[in-house]
Amino acid sequence: MDEIDDILNKESFSKEDLVRLLSTNEEESRKIYEKSKAVKAEQIGRKVYFRGLIEYSNYCSKNCLYCGIRAGNSRYIRYQMPDEEVLEAAKYAYDNKFASIVIQSGERNDRKFIDSIEKLLKEIHRMSDGKLHVTLSLGEQTEKTYQRWFTAGAHRYLLRIEVSNPVLYSKLHPNDKHHDYYERLEALRRLRKVGYQVGTGVMIGLPFQTIPDLADDLIFFRDFDIDMAGMGPYIEHQDTPLYQFRNELLPLHDRFLLSLKMVALLRIMMKDINIAATTAMQTIDPQGREKALLVGANVIMPNLTPVKYRQNYLLYENKPCLDENAEECNSCLEARIAMAGDEIGYGEWGDSRHYKKRMGS
Ligand code: SAH
Ligand code: SF4
Repeated sequence: MDEIDDILNKESFSKEDLVRLLSTNEEESRKIYEKSKAVKAEQIGRKVYFRGLIEYSNYCSKNCLYCGIRAGNSRYIRYQMPDEEVLEAAKYAYDNKFASIVIQSGERNDRKFIDSIEKLLKEIHRMSDGKLHVTLSLGEQTEKTYQRWFTAGAHRYLLRIEVSNPVLYSKLHPNDKHHDYYERLEALRRLRKVGYQVGTGVMIGLPFQTIPDLADDLIFFRDFDIDMAGMGPYIEHQDTPLYQFRNELLPLHDRFLLSLKMVALLRIMMKDINIAATTAMQTIDPQGREKALLVGANVIMPNLTPVKYRQNYLLYENKPCLDENAEECNSCLEARIAMAGDEIGYGEWGDSRHYKKRMGS
């Protein structure tokens, strides 16, 4: 048996194993994908869960050096969706049996924002008779805020650690107390303590990032015992400070392949978690999300944000589906998923099996 088979047959991967697996050539990578496909088929089955994505607001108080909607970028018109539009999108998700939505926005910690999310959560709960699950992705907050939103009906929270290496983190963020690696880690712990299903993730192919860094990211997910993951390639944005390093990046296609490999390896390592096929993957390869589903992902996030806002929620460049409304987006997704050989878990919450086990149910 060759070296790659030997590693793949191990019970648990070491950092050296992961570095080797992340460095495989195309031929060798196929073995990883065969294994991750088999794990997915056995543990997860062929079901894909929809999370309708609502990009609630692009106001952000932070200045992450990679992100297009950072506070310092004055090129975008800032918006916050009125409640009626959020409820309409939530209703669309409910009527189409998505069973779950994600409310995402730039980070704000002011009282008005915290109150408005709480109010929306209560209204969504009322509108759907508690049947529509809500995931939040609203950045770092205090325990009290996380608790309030949890009590108001949110069940899951996505907060990417972005990179698990604190030194690399400091190169990608301004060096102030609002962009502190340990604060972000603490926020993840707070979410866990309050009782959320916790999702995190990283960007792949960032400037200064190495293969050993990515191996550490996978180990971080395992050690933190996460319930959900969302990972995708870093895509440069010309209105951000990190753009100056664009010539030092891996070619886009290689960033895509590395992201695919990260998804496959995470599926092998954490067999029963939910893994998202992210929009950033589709940005590089039109069939990127389907490819991610094939090698191990089981969650997809159709965009339900009204088209008029999408031009102003560009975290990175060339984001797809800027002019497609929810219905068009939905029918094209169904066809795409069928193409990948999966089926959609309509009307099912799709909690990660990992979370259920963790909670003893
Ligand atoms: N403000 C919240 C949620 C919105 S940002 C937060 O930061 O948690 C959601 C994710 O977009 C971030 O976690 C980051 O991983 C991703 N993102 C931002 N800029 C990106 C870029 N240039 N390329 C790829 N992903 C990016
Ligand atoms: Fe704001 Fe999130 Fe973008 Fe950072 S990644 S600038 S917190 S929207």
